[in-house]
Amino acid sequence: MAYTVTFWGTRGSIPTPGPHTARYGGNTPCVAVESSGGQVVILDAGTGIRALGLELVERQNGAVRAEILLSHAHWDHIQGLPHFKPFFAPGNAVRIWGSRQGTTSLEAILRQQMDPAVFPVPLDALSAQLTVQQVDPGGGEFTVGAFRVRAMRLRHPGTTLGFRLTPAAAGSGGGGGGGGPSMAYVTDNELGSGGNYGTPASWHKEFVAFLADTELLIADTELLIHDAMYTPPELEEHRGWGHSTFEEAVALAAEAGVRRLVLFHHEPEHGDKDMDGLLAAARRLAKAKGKPGEVLAAQEGMKLTL
Ligand SMILES: [Zn+2]
Ligand SMILES: [Zn+2]
Repeated sequence: MAYTVTFWGTRGSIPTPGPHTARYGGNTPCVAVESSGGQVVILDAGTGIRALGLELVERQNGAVRAEILLSHAHWDHIQGLPHFKPFFAPGNAVRIWGSRQGTTSLEAILRQQMDPAVFPVPLDALSAQLTVQQVDPGGGEFTVGAFRVRAMRLRHPGTTLGFRLTPAAAGSGGGGGGGGPSMAYVTDNELGSGGNYGTPASWHKEFVAFLADTELLIADTELLIHDAMYTPPELEEHRGWGHSTFEEAVALAAEAGVRRLVLFHHEPEHGDKDMDGLLAAARRLAKAKGKPGEVLAAQEGMKLTL
């Protein structure tokens, strides 16, 4: 099964609109994954989800079926949700998947974001059918739309999940033992040794296995979208903040045998020129290593086909 991956929001932490970020984008994380069947799986609900919502409503209002996977509930990953237009028409159905934070359920967190003290429309007033589905890290594979999904806990404050999506094998048959190439969405993740996130000492090894998927007889991850917020000098100022450098992302992609790497969750202070330099440096490093074969930096509007 072929599918497309569209970047609606690429920026980390806070929206950065303006001429200096026009090419790489100023909206916070949101990525749409669409299979030929037309069902959309949305990765994170940063401000990028607003424009995606408008397009979905234009295309099929009253019949939108959206599945939203949330990496975690930090503001930049959920702040677009109250402005997701499919919520406001009957007949649409939205299912949100994500983890609780401590003892607070995901639904309670989403409700807080739409509390009357901070937002005019409460969660209960939405016209669309809304389902909130709890995901437990390490809880095994689950099905979202046309994909089989696995989640793994990342190294970031709170419970943050990385997702690996593999097209479910269709009757027509795809490549390998699955239904097509896999992709992984991993943002807000500290690959270095900083921070104390309660992850086991074996985390890195398990994470590489999660990406390479050595247990199942399906193809390796074709596409990895990974946090590459910092340059190496910037990381030195931000160890323990839960983010990685572009160098660490390239090294991970090479180690896991990923073919295409997309640098993601851009630092708000990085304008387009900085991003050009960061991407060029990442490509030089990948070339020197001989892998991954392709390195891109996420740009708003960028569309990849797998
Ligand atoms: Zn973030
Ligand atoms: Zn975060």
